[in-house]
Amino acid sequence: DLGSSLRGTLDKLRGKSRISEEDVDEIVKEIQRSLLQADVDVSLVMELSDSIEERALEEEPPGGTSARDHVLRIVYEELVDLVGESTEIPLENQTILLAGLQGSGKTTTAAKMAWWFSKKGLRPAVIQTDTFRPGAYDQAKQMTERAEVAFYGDPDEDDPVKIARDGLEATEDADVHIVDTAGRHALEDDLINEIEDIESAVEPDRSLLVLDAAIGQGAKDQAREFDDSIGIDGVAITKLDGTAKGGGALTAVDETGSTIAFLGSGETVQDIERFEPDSFISRLLGMGDLKQLTERVERAMEETGLEEDEDWDPEDLMKGEFTLKDMRKQMEAMDNMGPLDQVMDMIPGMGGGLMDQLPDDAMDVTQERMRNFEVIMDSMTEEELENPRSIGASQVRRIAKGSGKSEDTIRELLDQHKMMSQTMKQFQGMGDGDMQRMMKQ
Ligand code: GDP
Ligand code: MG
Repeated sequence: DLGSSLRGTLDKLRGKSRISEEDVDEIVKEIQRSLLQADVDVSLVMELSDSIEERALEEEPPGGTSARDHVLRIVYEELVDLVGESTEIPLENQTILLAGLQGSGKTTTAAKMAWWFSKKGLRPAVIQTDTFRPGAYDQAKQMTERAEVAFYGDPDEDDPVKIARDGLEATEDADVHIVDTAGRHALEDDLINEIEDIESAVEPDRSLLVLDAAIGQGAKDQAREFDDSIGIDGVAITKLDGTAKGGGALTAVDETGSTIAFLGSGETVQDIERFEPDSFISRLLGMGDLKQLTERVERAMEETGLEEDEDWDPEDLMKGEFTLKDMRKQMEAMDNMGPLDQVMDMIPGMGGGLMDQLPDDAMDVTQERMRNFEVIMDSMTEEELENPRSIGASQVRRIAKGSGKSEDTIRELLDQHKMMSQTMKQFQGMGDGDMQRMMKQ
């Protein structure tokens, strides 16, 4: 696939101290091919190529950085620049308006987002203002029931603005109001007028444009229209579980000067994740492990003191003692990145079914357990977090009292930690040879 040929090209640069024009050319061509196939707009691809080419040939690699790592860093930075950062979604009271054409996935995304907010401890409500599509009310009602979040709609009312107003009032208790709107097959004046009226009635804190991953370059006109009428602050891409990679949405991002907020990848309310540049880039390039790429880059930056933030790196798991702090970071990372087996897939040499060999519950950290664990860890001392094996019965009692959780739950946390740390030890103990043998199996 494209990803592996890109990796192959990059690997050819290993050991070179200077990078030639041909090398850069080859890398840029591979990236172009992947991005175009992922529906990224030609002019965006050309812009990116130009910047990579220019920087790779003009910028001097910082002292101690190999030509290859230097190029990797530039490629990575430019790709992050292309896809943008994640839209900021504060965990606080707010009203979010969803816009988009019919079938783009607004109603589904409204319920998914509500589910997402509820898992973050907020009380969301979905307000359904689609009076155009028969069945919209029932669909939203059912999905919000599944998400176990508040819902307002009125199948007998045909004024969407009135429904929006009544809905905000009826769901006063909620922290986050998600207002779902109607869409038509095409952009029509009355649709635009309607959403403008709803916008002025609800005064949203942010308006998100919902786009089907398969949108391609049709995204441009839509984005323009919606941005002109209500102002688009972010994009939600749906149906990423299909074959489309969602590159067309970048056109909308570019057109509106916004960023991507959420990704949807299925029909159930849990199939939502926050947009993260890293994993989206991996998807666009068809590379399973961009992490491998970026880790090298980070290492190169570290060596040259260029590293800016101390984001947790999954590879840290492979070194040293696995503390409760590591476990917490890992749980947070899982919340952002997806299940640990996917995280492990990103670590060089760790993918490919290795996880299947672990006990089933070794990595089972459900949302519910995670929240409990977080509360418990807040009641622990620094010393206990660093050295959980030192926690005895009397400390368990104290932590239980402090956190309001049962002693059993605290022991469960300690067991979970023990199990994970044993698993990590197992990996650490493996020599390269062992690892290769396992991978071959
Ligand atoms: P709306 O008209 O914009 O409100 O779109 P809907 O939310 O009704 O979604 C249209 C169709 O797309 C429905 O059949 C949804 O189940 C489906 N859908 C929405 N999001 C996703 C997704 O992320 N993955 C898949 N496979 N289907 C989705
Ligand atoms: Mg709908």
